[in-house]
Amino acid sequence: MQTPLMCGVFGIWNHPEAAKLTYLGLHALQHRGQEGAGIVSGELQADHFSRHHARGLVADVFTEEALQELTGPRAIGHVRYSTAGGSAPANVQPFKVDTLRGPLSIAHNGNLVNFLDIRRDLEREGAIFSTRSDTEVLVHLLARARAPRMEDRVREACTQVVGAYTLLIMHRDGLMGVRDPHGYRPLVLGKVGGAWVLASETCALDLIGGELVREVEPGEMVSIGLDGQLRSERLYHAPDATPQACVFELVYFARPNSRIFNEDAYEARRKMGMQLAREATPEADLVMPVPDSGVPAALGFAEQAGLPFRHGLIRSHYVGRTFIEPTQSIRNFGVKLKLSAVRSVVEDKRVVVIDDSVVRGTTSRKIVEIIRTAGAKEVHVRISAPPTRYPCFYGINTPSREELIASRMSVEQTAEYLHADSLAYLSEAGLHEAVHDQLGPTRRFCNACFTGRYRAGLEIIEGRLPVVGNLPPETETAA
Ligand code: SF4
Repeated sequence: MQTPLMCGVFGIWNHPEAAKLTYLGLHALQHRGQEGAGIVSGELQADHFSRHHARGLVADVFTEEALQELTGPRAIGHVRYSTAGGSAPANVQPFKVDTLRGPLSIAHNGNLVNFLDIRRDLEREGAIFSTRSDTEVLVHLLARARAPRMEDRVREACTQVVGAYTLLIMHRDGLMGVRDPHGYRPLVLGKVGGAWVLASETCALDLIGGELVREVEPGEMVSIGLDGQLRSERLYHAPDATPQACVFELVYFARPNSRIFNEDAYEARRKMGMQLAREATPEADLVMPVPDSGVPAALGFAEQAGLPFRHGLIRSHYVGRTFIEPTQSIRNFGVKLKLSAVRSVVEDKRVVVIDDSVVRGTTSRKIVEIIRTAGAKEVHVRISAPPTRYPCFYGINTPSREELIASRMSVEQTAEYLHADSLAYLSEAGLHEAVHDQLGPTRRFCNACFTGRYRAGLEIIEGRLPVVGNLPPETETAA
């Protein structure tokens, strides 16, 4: 079983249509998780929060009636991704509990590397867990914290966990947004009318007609209280916590119309394509993207290489994204359902096809096959990121190292496996340059899935591979 990986959060404070706007915000964040969605809402200083959550897409989970039940001027919401076996309804967030100090709700994007150790300690002390999610550990830590101020209780809980977490916390007297000291996952602060909004990406603000105020900084805790004022505090002093924003958010995950980590996702992708063209333009007749996520990089590549840009692959929008579908069988089936080549574009042409990643290689191999079957003379694959050689422990569901083709094969071997005439990846330095960063000790982006250089939880990862949300069989976790 696995915890939610790659999720989206949205929260709003003091708006007469809080739940409806949260619903819309979750719609805009749907690309961050398609397996479950939930909203918790409440009156100010309420003794009880309302919750509606279920497996499925946002549009299917919430009916008009369900939204009407979610009363109150404040709400937090969550869209969730999970892998096979981890999609039990109980795991769908936001979580909601009643504590001695009133109701508490929490929505989490990220992954707590050391959650299993904490969970075992809590179980030994008599704690009972109702889900298999790492986020529930945070709920327990928060409920047990003694400090009188909520901010200090959050601080107390967060100093015990290691890993990636962007949190929205709704409590009796306020709404909080927290980013871990490394800031792996994004969180932006905005306003709609007079109401404060917190969201994973700016695309959620755009949809509801809100405006961006600023990003919540790594290691920052913002807190909105009953007076409607926003206060900011350092989560805790972490001297070794250099920012480690997930560069993969800009490569692939964020919506291209979003601005996160103070970067425009579309522009970053276009620059990745331009840099890739500087590094590895083959002799070719045209450039085409793997739609949709490869489009900005392909535009940049074509512009830099001086080659025509064409839509040689057409995507069906009625099939989910293959990278985040749960099982191999669906993934394989999905490629053919999803992509078709345009024969008139590719026939007798030497094509450069741009994608943002090669994970297991099975999808890329099928794409090359589809293009060749439509009559392409040569297929040159260009990837607008370095090879993905290592798994992610910070909230993105990459497969194990053995399954990652780039960890098993050289670039030449991979090209052969894909049946591509050539294959090239963007260099690490080129990727960092595209996001206004530099390689080296001061880099502000995490690139561990390309380099294996993990930051948060490094000692744990070196000691033994973290479970990344996997709980061992029940017998091993019994207190
Ligand atoms: S390991 Fe890769 S996917 Fe995970 S946080 Fe770092 S850059 Fe992002």
